[in-house]
Amino acid sequence: MTADNPFQRAKAQLKKAGIKAGFSAKELEVLAEVSAVHEKELSVTVSGEKIKLMAFRVQHNDSRGPFKGGIRFHPEVNMDEVKALAFWMSMKCAVVGIPFGGGKGGVEVDAKSLSEKEYEDVSRAYIRGMAEHIGPDRDIPAPDVYTNPQVMAWMLDEYEKIKKRKAPGVITGKPLALGGSKARDYATAQGGVFALKQAADLLDLPPFKTRVAVQGFGNAGMHAARILSGIGYKIVAVSDSKGGIYDEHGLDIKKLIDHKKATGKVLGFEHTKDISNEDVLELESEVLIPAALGGVITPQNAGRIKAKIIVELANGPITPEADDILYKNDVFVIPDILANAGGVAVSYFEWVQNNMGYYWEEDEVLEKLGQLMFKAFRAVYETSKRLSIDMRTAAFVVGARRILEAEKLRGNI
Ligand code: NAD
Repeated sequence: MTADNPFQRAKAQLKKAGIKAGFSAKELEVLAEVSAVHEKELSVTVSGEKIKLMAFRVQHNDSRGPFKGGIRFHPEVNMDEVKALAFWMSMKCAVVGIPFGGGKGGVEVDAKSLSEKEYEDVSRAYIRGMAEHIGPDRDIPAPDVYTNPQVMAWMLDEYEKIKKRKAPGVITGKPLALGGSKARDYATAQGGVFALKQAADLLDLPPFKTRVAVQGFGNAGMHAARILSGIGYKIVAVSDSKGGIYDEHGLDIKKLIDHKKATGKVLGFEHTKDISNEDVLELESEVLIPAALGGVITPQNAGRIKAKIIVELANGPITPEADDILYKNDVFVIPDILANAGGVAVSYFEWVQNNMGYYWEEDEVLEKLGQLMFKAFRAVYETSKRLSIDMRTAAFVVGARRILEAEKLRGNI
C-alpha cells in the first residue's frame, strides 16, 4: 500500500489534489519531480572507531526560492523518506506563501548513542559533505528530529570556516546569540494555535467551551498546551512516550511543565487519572492535537474520535484511509502542511533578519506570524469550500498552484 513508502504516499496526495483541481499530466510530473539528490559517506570517529555514516540532502523544487528544510539524525533515515519530506516542504512553504522551495536532509545515525563531541563531529562532517550544495540563496537547512540549535551553531561555524566569510542566512533555527530569531523555539506551536483559533471561530467554539487533548509533550505539544491554557482553553489530557494523564477539570500546565522537567514524564502528576496514548486520541474533547508521531490515527480508531477539530502539529499523524473516515464524520482537520508551518515561517523571518542584519522584537515576530497564518488558513479554507474537498487536499491544491505559477513564469511548463 502507498502508506508504506512515504514518497509514494506524497505522490498519491498530489494526484488526489490534481484530480480535484484539474492539473494536467505535465503539471503533475513537474510537481513530483525531484530537482537534485545528494548522497555522501561521512567519515567520523565514534567510540574510538572510524566509521562511515550515510548522509542525504534532497532538493525537491526551488521555483519559488531557495530550497528549505531540516536535517534529521536518525538510524532509519532513508532516501524515500527524505524525498517525501522535501516534497512536503515545497508544499508547506508554498501554502504559507514564503519564498522558499523544499529540501530535506538526514544522517543515518543513532543520535542517542553519540557523545557531545561525536554529535559535533557528525554535524561538522555533514556540512563538509554538503557545503557545495547549500547556501543562503541556494538551500537553507534547519533543525529536525534529533538536531537542535546547538547542532545548527556547529553547522553554521563549519560552513563559515569553509567559505571564509560570515553567512548566518545559510541555516535557521540557530541560537539567538548567532543570529536566531525570537519566538523560533515555540513558533510551530504558536502557528498551530493561530490556525486553531480560526477553525474554532468557524465552528463557534470559544476557548471556555473547548476541551483539548494533546498527544506528545515535546517542543510542539508542550508549547501548544502552554499557549492554549494561557488563553483560556481547558487542556484535559496530555501524553508522552511513557503514557498519558487526564483531568476533566483541566490540567495546570505550568505545574505540569515543572513536573515533566523534574521527572522526565507526565505520568505521576497530581490529581490525574492515568490513561494510555491511544485513549488520549479517543476521549471526550472538542480539539485533538497529535504532536508526537506519524500514523497514529488509522481506520481502526478514526471512527471513535470525538474531537470536532484535529490540529496536526505532528507530521503525517493521520493515514490516508483515516482521513476519508474523518471527513465523512465532519471532523475539521487542519493538515500538517498548514498546522505546523509556523516553524518554517519563523525560519523565514530568521533568514530575513540575517539578510538585513537587523533583528526584531518578539512581538513583531508574533504579529507577522499571525498575519501569515491567517492568510494561509483563509486560502486553504476557501479552496476547500469552493471545490468541496477536505482541508488537506485543499492545502495541496493551494501549494501546488503557487508552485505551478512560478514554473510557468519561468517557462518550464
Ligand atoms: P520532540 O522530540 O520535542 O517531542 C516529541 C514528544 O512525543 C515527546 O514528548 C515524546 O515523549 C512524545 N512521544 C514519543 N512517542 C510517543 C508515543 N508513542 N505516544 C505519545 N507521545 C510520544 O519533538 P517535536 O519537535 O515536538 O515534534 C513532534 C512532532 O511535530 C513530530 O512529528 C515533528 O515532525 C512535528 N513537527 C515539529 C516541529 C518543530 O518545530 N518542533 C515542526 C514541524 C513538525
